[in-house]
Amino acid sequence: MTRHVVTLIPGDGIGVETSAAMQRVVDASGVDIAWEIALAGAECIETEGTPLPESTLESIRRNGVAIKGPIATPVAGGFRSVNVALRKALDLYNCLRPVRSLPGAGGRYEDVDLVIVRENSEDLYAGVEFEQGSEGAGKIIDLCQSVGAGSIRRDSGISIKPISVTGSRRIVRAAFEYALAQGRRKVTAVHKANIMKHSDGLFLTVAREVAAEYEGRVAFDERIVDAFCMNLVIEPGQFDVVVFPNLYGDIASDLAAGLVGGLGIAPGANIGDGCAVFEAVHGSAPDIAGQDKANPTAEILSAAMMLDHLGEREAASRIREAVRRVYAEGSCLTGDIRWATGSKEPAASCTAFTENLIEVMRSL
Ligand code: NAD
Repeated sequence: MTRHVVTLIPGDGIGVETSAAMQRVVDASGVDIAWEIALAGAECIETEGTPLPESTLESIRRNGVAIKGPIATPVAGGFRSVNVALRKALDLYNCLRPVRSLPGAGGRYEDVDLVIVRENSEDLYAGVEFEQGSEGAGKIIDLCQSVGAGSIRRDSGISIKPISVTGSRRIVRAAFEYALAQGRRKVTAVHKANIMKHSDGLFLTVAREVAAEYEGRVAFDERIVDAFCMNLVIEPGQFDVVVFPNLYGDIASDLAAGLVGGLGIAPGANIGDGCAVFEAVHGSAPDIAGQDKANPTAEILSAAMMLDHLGEREAASRIREAVRRVYAEGSCLTGDIRWATGSKEPAASCTAFTENLIEVMRSL
């Protein structure tokens, strides 16, 4: 049996609970994993002086594979997102988020099977921002005025939206390569090029160029983001692999997750050329943290993606099949799913759900 060394960042809020559940399920699947625990988030600022210690980055670089729980980012204030910083530091440019109907999870449709490919390194997430009233903001406002780019109110805060040829090309190519490898039929590029001609317009131009390289092998389609949202809600079955600039991909991920039962079941991966970090779409859910109420399915399904990545396909399939059976059977599901399905049955705790899932997996 191959032994895999995997970096595990438990995260905070419900991450502590969902990571522990994920770890129990993966260990019970029989795959031999040596977990290397690494810290990130507000908790390690006191001990390490930073929310993202270099030792954590080194662990991921060394092992090439990591799985993490969510990490909270306070709104506003000086503390930037650790999640964004991690993706940036390791250049994890490809955010893959499969969205599949899971019967029994309370989804609005039974036939959703699409994959969101979100550019993960630029766009409004690049972190190039100028505080309202700052010298930098003033200079940008003056520059825009002087080159005739338009007038911006003096009391504006400014976030810059860079979208490059390099960043667009590699993410669209990743989407097409993924489609080819998975035997999928179509890639749709989503944009707002009619309004943002030099950022989204560039993304679309590059997407069309890359699509031409795959002509005859994978079909190509394009949608304006607002129309895409309506199309997705009305007829999600028309989408297959969908590639987005960063911000639209983030929003569409939650929208798509909502169609199949919610954030509790939405897995994901952040992939770069050198390493991959797997994580659920959801955040640290402070409203239910520490109460053993969280649904660990999203992190468990993220672990199944990780096992596929490690070549442990049989264990990955067994975890997915156990999840499918637990939801179809329906007697031991967490509160978020009870709410989504409108069920009055009592909600299972995170621990009870995990123990039942392991029992079902062992029976397969
Ligand atoms: P959230 O995803 O944490 O929660 C949104 C809602 O969904 C809440 O009502 C929550 O209770 C529920 N929910 C989410 N995951 C659930 C689960 N597994 N089981 C049951 N219910 C679940 O989003 P938010 O409230 O906007 O963000 C909270 C914090 O998480 C913020 O600090 C945010 O920055 C951070 N965040 C981190 C990541 C990450 O680490 N990758 C991603 C998104 C948000």
